[in-house]
Amino acid sequence: APAPPPARHLFSDRAEVEALRGNLLAWYDRCKRDLPWRALVRGDIGRQGWGIMWVSEIMLQQTQVATVIDYYNRWMEKWPTLQALAQASLEEVNELWAGLGYYSRGKRLQEAARKVVSELAGQMPRTAEDLQKLLPGVGRYTAGAIASISYGQATGVVDGNVIRVLCRLRCIGADSSSPAVIDRLWDMANVLVDRSRPGDFNQALMELGATVCVPKAPLCGECPVKQHCQARRRVSLGSAAIVTLVFAGVGDCSLCPPATEPWDSSLGVTNFPRKAAKKPPQAMRTATCVLERTGCHGAPEYLIVQRPSSGLLAGLWEFPSLLLAQGLQEKKEREALADHLQAWMGRPVAAKGLRFIGEVIHIFSHIHQTYVVYSLPLDGDVTLDPASSPSRWVTEEEFHASAVSTAMKKVL
Ligand code: SF4
Repeated sequence: APAPPPARHLFSDRAEVEALRGNLLAWYDRCKRDLPWRALVRGDIGRQGWGIMWVSEIMLQQTQVATVIDYYNRWMEKWPTLQALAQASLEEVNELWAGLGYYSRGKRLQEAARKVVSELAGQMPRTAEDLQKLLPGVGRYTAGAIASISYGQATGVVDGNVIRVLCRLRCIGADSSSPAVIDRLWDMANVLVDRSRPGDFNQALMELGATVCVPKAPLCGECPVKQHCQARRRVSLGSAAIVTLVFAGVGDCSLCPPATEPWDSSLGVTNFPRKAAKKPPQAMRTATCVLERTGCHGAPEYLIVQRPSSGLLAGLWEFPSLLLAQGLQEKKEREALADHLQAWMGRPVAAKGLRFIGEVIHIFSHIHQTYVVYSLPLDGDVTLDPASSPSRWVTEEEFHASAVSTAMKKVL
């Protein structure tokens, strides 16, 4: 059997765990940020409990708190109950979600609301296990957050902030995105979570990562758990001889930094956490055309078309666009786009008539997208081909109120 990890990687001392919980919760009570989803307390769960944690947690995945607040407030105003959300259309959900990114999150949130209403008699599952098992789009983290914060279940959570804090508290230098390390961090979170205030404890740990134990310049001097932090201890020991004695990995410890990437004293506590290098994003080029006509009130109108209901940016609206093959010459790009536009307009489009405007770069999570933007002013009426995907003419104001991505707003 592999040797157990050294004590510095574990929370095995009960007295220390108690002290850490107490210090962290006392700090949270004093310093927590005033966020809209914290305004409603657990006692009020019946009315908006579903939204307090569910909507906010789904929105907070991959999006900063400052951006989420406005979206959260508008969402809860529009759909204050699960039943209201279950009756909304995907179009309405996408419109409200527009600009928040990762659009499948909104779609799955609505699908899950429908499932709760139609299959679970309107009752939200109340344990992390059931939430994860029964609701689409609810992963282990979101399930733990809802169960602990909304329903008081003593279960831990692990998100990016918690990973950073735990890796520093326990000097975990192995790849923090590897399944073995993630499993170990979940075990730790479940050991640490306070039994009487699990929701507050989990929020406190995440808050610590978001405001004190931040990625680049953590505020260790102000940290409420600094006396329990092994990374800080390692920095304070300083001398190479002592450090080697106290912190040498035991055998091939699976939680220590790999021998090829030893401790870098210039980084201090930010030696932790460590991640394997990310794959570079995939480069894509898309030709897009802003077709413009003069509307009946004299204002310009633009043609937008709807994307397929699955895949990237599912169901969102965009200017007619065409993914380009790599290495295509400009003339060929133009011809391909002209052919594509013909399908929308039901009549030939001359490639020469397309005016090149410029390029817009937009980074999606894993795609480096370059939009090659053309425009085409149209005279007279245009009959759109009803056999094509849904399409419509919009004014600039209507465009901004539609379910369009941030990338398309940049294109306009
Ligand atoms: Fe993070 Fe510093 Fe606190 Fe350790 S002492 S948990 S590194 S802020």
